[in-house]
Amino acid sequence: MIELFATDKLRALYPRVKAFVEEELYPVEMQLVHGPWPEAKALLDEKRAKAKSLGLWTPYLPEDEGGLGLTMTEFGQLSEILGMTPLGHYALNCQAPDIGNIELMHQFASEELKERYLHPLINGEIRSCFSMTEPEFAGSNPVNLGTTAVQEGDEFVINGHKWFTTAADGAAFAIVMAVTDPEAGPYNRASMIIVPTDTPGFELTRNIPIMGDVGGGYMSHAEIEYKDCRVPLSNLIGEPGSGFMLAQQRLGPGRIHHCMRWIGICERAFDLMCKRAATRELRDGKMLGHQQTIQNWISESRAEINAARYMVLHAAHKMDREGSKAARLEISTIKFYVANVLMQVLDRAVQVHGALGITEDTMLSFWYRHERGARIYDGPDEVHKASLAKSILKKYGM
Ligand SMILES: Cc1cc2nc3c(=O)[nH]c(=O)nc-3n(C[C@H](O)[C@H](O)[C@H](O)COP(=O)(O)OP(=O)(O)OC[C@H]3O[C@@H](n4cnc5c(N)ncnc54)[C@H](O)[C@@H]3O)c2cc1C
Repeated sequence: MIELFATDKLRALYPRVKAFVEEELYPVEMQLVHGPWPEAKALLDEKRAKAKSLGLWTPYLPEDEGGLGLTMTEFGQLSEILGMTPLGHYALNCQAPDIGNIELMHQFASEELKERYLHPLINGEIRSCFSMTEPEFAGSNPVNLGTTAVQEGDEFVINGHKWFTTAADGAAFAIVMAVTDPEAGPYNRASMIIVPTDTPGFELTRNIPIMGDVGGGYMSHAEIEYKDCRVPLSNLIGEPGSGFMLAQQRLGPGRIHHCMRWIGICERAFDLMCKRAATRELRDGKMLGHQQTIQNWISESRAEINAARYMVLHAAHKMDREGSKAARLEISTIKFYVANVLMQVLDRAVQVHGALGITEDTMLSFWYRHERGARIYDGPDEVHKASLAKSILKKYGM
């Protein structure tokens, strides 16, 4: 916790969340990430019940929705602690993609949709997924979509092909981005529609292997065919044609959550790296940590993680005060910067562990595989760098 960004609420909560992560989750994390999902889920359900009983559930939600009413700056700092173990966010019901869907529905869904989908999601009775990216179109330009939702009577008929729908396996519903008005301008063509996963025509064709790991349940990324899926018109979230605007709303806080989670991973990898450097003997009394290259990696990692944390909290603080639109460039900056710090720190930690680093005997290889996506999802590095550079160059008349 950074004292500069601390509040009384956070000072009280931070040690409780830290104790929960260290005492309840660290001892079982290997079992959770390497076991079959149904077994992991059963164990996680116990941990979730404990988190609820300790009053740590859905900390980001307003108090009248059963949360702890934290600001982004406060939640960001808890998110770092939760990120130190792969299912920390899940244990407190603040995992992506559900957290993004909850925030979106909380703000824009009708009372009927809230009752049917949002409240069970907040209670942790069901999971959800977010289905936007399509294999046939460049996902980094989200106005390009082939999926359509055509109005027939009082229903939408949805047809399309999606992939990388994270956690669709076992989810109760998907929020699907589909073109509802092909004649409208690129930013007003698509809408977000809730499709329950038991709707006829919702076909999860496979969980996509990620660097050889197919995963399952919450820990998976699905390819999905939507074939004449019929849902009521009332399953629309927000206004028709507002899909692009809603996607932007969803992504701002989401990127800050990811960045703080990545800093948690960095801290854990850094700790493993330092422990290994201090205990691995190369020859009589000469430890790995005596080597200057290793010392450089330790110092560079420390500086980069510290810098990343301040940048993220600064962006979160701006978002709390001025909203996500005003903090757009700060959010773009941290998205590519922190993702790359994460890659560097993980790579150094793996290297310091030697062959052990690429086994499943530490958490490093799991993160090395699964966090490579950090530079791609929620906007690839190049897209964020282009936005930032364009805005800077504008001041130079370009
Ligand atoms: C782990 C993971 C989880 C995901 N979860 C979800 C999910 O739950 N729901 C969902 O809908 N999607 C999800 N996605 C998909 C993700 O949003 C897309 O992968 C992302 O938007 C990029 O789209 P693309 O893969 O089609 O790459 P493309 O758009 O084809 O881009 C490929 C590459 O081109 C380069 N590039 C792109 N645009 C530019 C540019 N303007 N300038 C320079 N270079 C550029 C970048 O290097 C980029 O990586 C997930 C992806 C990953 C990896």
